[in-house]
Amino acid sequence: MRYVTTRSQGEAVTASKAILTGLAPDGGLYVPERMPALTADELRALTTKSYAERAAYVMSLYFDEFSAETLRAYAEAAYGAQFDTPAVAPVVTRAEGIHILELWHGPTAAFKDMALQMLPRLLTGSLNLQNTSQTALILTATSGDTGKAALEGFADVPGTHILVFYPKDGISSMQERQMVTQEGQNVGVFANAGNFDDAQTAVKALFTDPEVSAKLKEKNVFFSSANSINLGRLVPQIVYYISAYCDLVRDGKIAQGDKINVCVPTGNFGNILSALYAREMGLPIQKLICASNRNSVLTDFLRTGTYTARRPFYTTLSPSMDILISSNLERALYYLCDGQAALVSDWMRDLRESGSFSLQDAQLARFSELFYADTCDDAETLSCMEALFPELLIDPHTAVGYRVLEKYRRETGDNTPALLCATASPYKFPDAVLSALDRHISEEDKAELTDDFRKLALISRLSGTNIPGPLMRLQGKPVRFTRTLQNHEMSGAVSAYIEERM
Ligand SMILES: *Cc1c(COP(=O)(O)O)cnc(C)c1O
Repeated sequence: MRYVTTRSQGEAVTASKAILTGLAPDGGLYVPERMPALTADELRALTTKSYAERAAYVMSLYFDEFSAETLRAYAEAAYGAQFDTPAVAPVVTRAEGIHILELWHGPTAAFKDMALQMLPRLLTGSLNLQNTSQTALILTATSGDTGKAALEGFADVPGTHILVFYPKDGISSMQERQMVTQEGQNVGVFANAGNFDDAQTAVKALFTDPEVSAKLKEKNVFFSSANSINLGRLVPQIVYYISAYCDLVRDGKIAQGDKINVCVPTGNFGNILSALYAREMGLPIQKLICASNRNSVLTDFLRTGTYTARRPFYTTLSPSMDILISSNLERALYYLCDGQAALVSDWMRDLRESGSFSLQDAQLARFSELFYADTCDDAETLSCMEALFPELLIDPHTAVGYRVLEKYRRETGDNTPALLCATASPYKFPDAVLSALDRHISEEDKAELTDDFRKLALISRLSGTNIPGPLMRLQGKPVRFTRTLQNHEMSGAVSAYIEERM
């Protein structure tokens, strides 16, 4: 299987090349030359397999450069004891045919682990396949969950180093604590003065910074990215949709061949795009339900065919979905206009130059047939969390998805069994959870909530669920990283890291 880019008809590259490069040289994203098929027989065969076996099989359809044994070894290692359940991504059924796919059982308690436990293995495997002696330096700007999941994935992985930049005042205290206590000899974490957009822009500038480039050459190092545009993140995410379908069949919740709907709390469009890929491969998915918070750029786009990125940015209770440019949408555009790269290039140029682009009627019709989209604001998010409690405790991102799924069912009457992605553990967002459960908390208990760990303990007591081990173990862990950089200090800090540590 070879990979082309969404913007040009340029030369196709191997998977290993695409994984090492991240973003294609023409600014587009790598997509498979043709969509691999998953037949009904293959799907049936997977129902009796473990998560790791399913992962190895699905990845083999995309990454035929790697041997079956290699992929099997990667999957066994990526989806092992660092997950707190052997099911890895279990499906929990709610009475009304709502099946919740829990994607937060990994080491950082958010769905980013599903791909970022695998990516470092694919990346070092790609270094071998490309026969390079270079070391990879992964640069990641994060608004919260990606940074920690990438650090955890790449910590002490030979042939790699990773630097993470997070906005000093833009993430939850739990998320910050997760990052500044990160262990590993090949990691660096910096806070950035400014917001996430500033950090993102400054990180992008590093890729072409002359001082840094000179250092890279001297030390035989190249930059790579762990962002969700990397092909090595997309493919491992396809696995859990296929795996969830297999679980539903295995457990008699649906019959093989039955259609399901899939609802995804969406930000950068990476997760829901993987569901689209699973569908195109042959998984019986009917509707893709795209849930946004108050930052409704995707909902507006999927309803009108016009994408308008220039609009106010809102900070919400679901920060990992606070985003105005959804990078992975480009891959969906490519598929739904049948691979007309020139069209995609034009849209992306319009977006860059004027902040918006518009589909034609034919393409909008294809999007509308496939996708339903709606939004859920903070007040609805809290009321959804509170309404489901105490039977079910979900995080604010998952609540956005739940509420939008309910709106879809009410509006359309379509009660097809639905799979809802639960993208984070509620314990990652204790303030939002406690504010949703406010009326269950006594004044006495409120007075005791003097630090994060007391909040986690209270949530555990109220809900009768366990605090995820990795969050619990943050208590008392020494802080290793305390430096805050101004944007103009970043290039110097990165050069110094390369000089001293690589
Ligand atoms: C990253 C993230 C999302 C958004 O996923 P995308 O792939 O960017 O659409 C939703 N919820 C949580 C908890 C996340 O960390």
